[in-house]
Amino acid sequence: MSSPATKKAGIMGWPVGHSLSPRLHGYWLKEHNIDGSYVPLAVEPEKLRNRLKALPADGFCGVNLTIPHKEEALRFMDHADPLALRVGAVNTVIVADGRIEGRNTDVYGFTQNLLSAGYKRGNRPVTVIGAGGAARAAVVALLDMGAKDIRIINRTRDRALSVAASFGEAISVYVWDDKRALKNTSLLVNATSLGLKGQPPLDIALDELPPDAYVTDMVYVPLMTDFLKRAEARGNKTVDGLGMLLHQAVPAFTAFFGVKPQVTPALRSYVLEGRP
Ligand code: NDP
Repeated sequence: MSSPATKKAGIMGWPVGHSLSPRLHGYWLKEHNIDGSYVPLAVEPEKLRNRLKALPADGFCGVNLTIPHKEEALRFMDHADPLALRVGAVNTVIVADGRIEGRNTDVYGFTQNLLSAGYKRGNRPVTVIGAGGAARAAVVALLDMGAKDIRIINRTRDRALSVAASFGEAISVYVWDDKRALKNTSLLVNATSLGLKGQPPLDIALDELPPDAYVTDMVYVPLMTDFLKRAEARGNKTVDGLGMLLHQAVPAFTAFFGVKPQVTPALRSYVLEGRP
């Protein structure tokens, strides 16, 4: 039962029906016995501005944003934190004193997912495939972890060059089939939507990838993508994208509901059971 005291949050996307976030936040609300709700909000791109601006009047304490809103939303914030400005994308909106503040917790989610899988920061190069919002979050996370040599591979070269222009000399751009991009790398990241259910697989040759490199995929439907399976088959340590989703929700939930939740195996199983 909701009452006027019930704290209300949700996720805006278009479409949004596939999102696992209501199940994820719902688990923590129950676990911590919080008088709160977290609902899916189907918001068309043309209505994004008005729906965001109406959040305080509509009684929300905040929302998360998913495809296709993360980059566009930045323009509509009353305030954006420095991380959201660096990434150029907002995935968490906090309502405070009648104003809306944009944050980015994907950077935290990406970092925590890797560190909790045992990835160690080091001096070797790292390689990111993709140049969209998810790739930009990965690049910021890797820079903040101390990476000095980040190689970007993307289908559209201009988009990769614009990532390089945003983040400076640590970034170099490689064409799709340039095997040098994987040489001596300690981490290979898929930040494209390739491999997602209904999309073609990520077709990239792994022969130059060192055997001790970590391989992570932001796609988590399916959980074990063809890309991760190929990496695992050659002995690389793999990290699936569900962990990033779970970890990015921690700072968002904390800001919405005032309790810092935990990412546990039980949470992971519960969220997995709700997959389409
Ligand atoms: P964008 O639309 O901003 O970027 C998509 C990227 O995929 C671009 O680099 C694009 O290349 C590439 N791409 C798409 N189709 C193809 C294709 N047929 N061949 C080659 N490259 C292709 O999306 P996002 O960056 O926001 O998201 C990327 C993925 O990451 C999505 O699947 C998303 O769900 C996932 N994600 C997962 C998160 C998690 O918590 N696990 C968090 C955030 C995102 P080009 O520039 O050439 O178009």
